[in-house]
Amino acid sequence: MPNNRYTMWFLEILQAEKGACHKMNLNIVCIPGDGIGPEIVAEAKKVLDKVAQKYNHSITYKDILMGGASIDACGEPLTEEAIATAKAADAVLMGSIGGNTSTSPWYKLPPHLRPEAGLLKLRKSLNLFANLRPAYLYEELKAACPLRDDIIGSGFDMMIMRELTGGLYFGERSTKEVDGVLTAIDTLTYNENEIRRIAIKGFEIAMKRRKKVTSVDKANVLDSSRLWRKIVEEVAKDYPEVTLEHMLVDNCAMQLVKDPKQFDVILTENMFGDILSDEASMVTGSIGMLSSASLNDTKFGLYEPSGGSAPDIAGKGIANPIATILSAAMMLRYSFDLDCEADAIEAAVKKVLEEGYRTIDIMPQEEGRRAEVTQVGTVQMGDLISERI
Ligand code: NAD
Repeated sequence: MPNNRYTMWFLEILQAEKGACHKMNLNIVCIPGDGIGPEIVAEAKKVLDKVAQKYNHSITYKDILMGGASIDACGEPLTEEAIATAKAADAVLMGSIGGNTSTSPWYKLPPHLRPEAGLLKLRKSLNLFANLRPAYLYEELKAACPLRDDIIGSGFDMMIMRELTGGLYFGERSTKEVDGVLTAIDTLTYNENEIRRIAIKGFEIAMKRRKKVTSVDKANVLDSSRLWRKIVEEVAKDYPEVTLEHMLVDNCAMQLVKDPKQFDVILTENMFGDILSDEASMVTGSIGMLSSASLNDTKFGLYEPSGGSAPDIAGKGIANPIATILSAAMMLRYSFDLDCEADAIEAAVKKVLEEGYRTIDIMPQEEGRRAEVTQVGTVQMGDLISERI
């Protein structure tokens, strides 16, 4: 992102002009959810409204209930009516769902009636098979990164693209006695269509970034990985501008902490992606900064912060809204192809951090460095970002 004041000014003019000749109506369903959800979604809407005003778009919002809020109002975590409303939208922006799992009465209900069942049902109903989690290290938050300075260098910016509906988590499983010994079996299945559709998404996303795909598998052992590699290579032929490399998952886990700068898009199957995306998010610092998207094979997507409903800080006005605001930027980029508008949000977030504003979760740990920054609450952080669009 450009630092020079004049470059920023010139880009802003170009962006405003491009937006002005590209008017759109965005039909967005919001799921405020539980805990800090309503607080952080309100700030993301504030920023979206500012983008719409500046770039001459209009936005129609509809709210639906999910999770605990829906259990309280409707007796179930997600109603068919809410699903139908979500399906009719262009994209869904979600806060988070769930409560304190030890004390909330929602967790005394049977599993299919608990808050999380609503999210699983929604993902399934919308056929969301591609999960995107960016791992971006802001210069200003370098201190939160557990890696050494010489490894971090000028920072890193990668996108973990995880297949979400196949593989080991959805294969047939059983536990039975075999010759008197208790034995558990899990199966890992992928067909070529499931691999092709996520690979296409991966290459499409790479085309919007630095045009490099690292496909991660275990092709030296698993048949499913050998098929994965074959199909990814076939898809790569349609994207000659994108550089493709293959990496074994054990090596990838090592490379993520040895040299994270080398990665642009990491494309991988369900379980490998589950583990690698947590590893990648850990090296960026705060959970309050991490956005995510789940996409299907249209432009439709569900956008949400990576964190949960944080019941410990709900209602206190101190939650970090940045992950949700950055999820809204992902929504503009991937569901609406509004790249300039998404860039404007990301640049505004960076500017606010450069100016030294921090929510409590990203305050420096060392006493001495706290005086260099200004602590703000949820609403103020949303205002600051919105003002810088
Ligand atoms: P959590 O992510 O809600 O909280 C973990 C820690 O991170 C807490 O200390 C919290 O205060 C902090 N935190 C999280 N988001 C923050 C933010 N935006 N700003 C500042 N601090 C933030 O995880 P948890 O405590 O394990 O789970 C709480 C509830 O959230 C559970 O019911 C869980 O099932 C649910 N959950 C929901 C989602 C989702 O909606 N997709 C994801 C994960 C967890």
